[in-house]
Amino acid sequence: ISQLVWLRNDIRLNDHPAINLAQQDDDIALVVCLTPEQWQEHNESPAKNALRFELTTELQQQAHKLGIPCHILELKRFSDCPEAIADLCLEHHYTTVWWQNELPVHEAQRDECTAKHLDKVGVTTRRFAPDLIVSEPVLNQQGQPFKVFTPFYKRWLSTLSANITPPYECPNNQEPPTSLPSEFKCYDIDDSYRQDLWPADYQIIKEKLWHFCHHKEADYDELRDFPAKPNTSTLSPYLALGAIGPRECLEAIIHTSGNNERDWHGSVWLKELAWRDFYKQLMGHFPDLSKSLPFKPETQHLVWNHNAKAFKAWCEGNTGFPIVDAAMRQLNQTGWMHNRLRMITASFLTKLLFVDWREGERYFMEHLIDGEFAANNGGWQWSASTGCDAAPYFRVFNPTRQSERFDPDGVFIKRFVPELKILSGKSIHDPNQSQRKQCGYPEPIIDYKKARQYAIAAFDDLKGQT
Ligand code: FAD
Repeated sequence: ISQLVWLRNDIRLNDHPAINLAQQDDDIALVVCLTPEQWQEHNESPAKNALRFELTTELQQQAHKLGIPCHILELKRFSDCPEAIADLCLEHHYTTVWWQNELPVHEAQRDECTAKHLDKVGVTTRRFAPDLIVSEPVLNQQGQPFKVFTPFYKRWLSTLSANITPPYECPNNQEPPTSLPSEFKCYDIDDSYRQDLWPADYQIIKEKLWHFCHHKEADYDELRDFPAKPNTSTLSPYLALGAIGPRECLEAIIHTSGNNERDWHGSVWLKELAWRDFYKQLMGHFPDLSKSLPFKPETQHLVWNHNAKAFKAWCEGNTGFPIVDAAMRQLNQTGWMHNRLRMITASFLTKLLFVDWREGERYFMEHLIDGEFAANNGGWQWSASTGCDAAPYFRVFNPTRQSERFDPDGVFIKRFVPELKILSGKSIHDPNQSQRKQCGYPEPIIDYKKARQYAIAAFDDLKGQT
């Protein structure tokens, strides 16, 4: 064995360009670096880490069945990777290390340092474009990155059509090595990881993808915004950790649309996957995004409220706005939140409580099982109107109207705010004082109209600033 493939947020054997191409040169080994201190610094949730460990164990077992050794290096931080990988290469005589690049600043620095270090010890590196559907930078006619999604999407779609790559084949069986790397130490699985909801089994994940594409994808546009029903794919934790490949998703979309280009071009689900590429590519073009800075520099001047009590109420789902509370409790109990609710809760925190979007971004990362830096940062900056192609600042979601529209019968609210179960009809969206008392449910922590005016005035004050 002379080839080593380094897996990061692409914990899979299938549809993996580096695994596939490295094996064409010679037999391969795999390596995964565990860097818990770094992940903690990046606010990654215990649930996401637990899923990562489960996926890694599963991958190690599947790789062993194919005679592919999989080393697990237990490190602390990204800065430990260069030396540890180099030592591994020297010990096992690996001559080339392959990986798919990652775009956020710390990841990019880690990759640069590792490449330099390997070069010093005489090991070659083969680096691939990031793990996206369209992995090459999607640029405008001036060779610049797009700052608005719609033209990005048009160019993305035409680039994709001109170069559809089918998923890479699963690796071949190898001659079993004489000694296999030691077994991966078992980690305590954090209680917040709901294994029942997010199994780490590749076959189940793949079936989930195909089931969604066969049965739900066609109606996705019409039904996706209603959180009471499972009408979105819920593949995000697997996409965040790379347990399923982007070309596998594309293949499922194209196949279930009968290979008809007009049909799959119109797929709204594909468009959501393009948002994923958009935000990831932005990270590469604008390193400031990885440094907690807003995309729109003038919004640095906003003076956010420091209201610990209100923030706590938001985190715990006790704001007195049933849809917001149900959403936050869904996050706290399951590690996942529906997209419409992410927008409602983020708008509530940033526009109505006027709390800094970075506070919400961090809380989401700390609790989401699908916490993914680019998508989360993009979603928060979109909601707070500080980001690239963000919601206009005067667009402030009215939580009660959103609730009436997207959870009309209160089915979702009652699931996560059971104290409101006795309410019927429209009152579920905004119970009156005596109903709140009867249910033991708090009064609204803000007055929507006043809070909205406050936020709009604060953004108005920015006019003329740079
Ligand atoms: P589907 O509707 O089935 O979409 C398929 C896939 O497309 C998703 O799994 C995801 O990988 C991608 N996707 C969908 N919408 C978006 C989007 N707006 N931006 C980027 N990618 C998208 N998504 C994350 O994966 N991780 C996050 O940490 C994250 N944080 C968010 C924070 C906020 C404030 C907002 C508004 C959105 C956030 N999103 C995040 C995007 C989106 O809410 C989730 O991807 C989606 O809810 C996941 O559910 P699903 O897998 O059923 O998605």
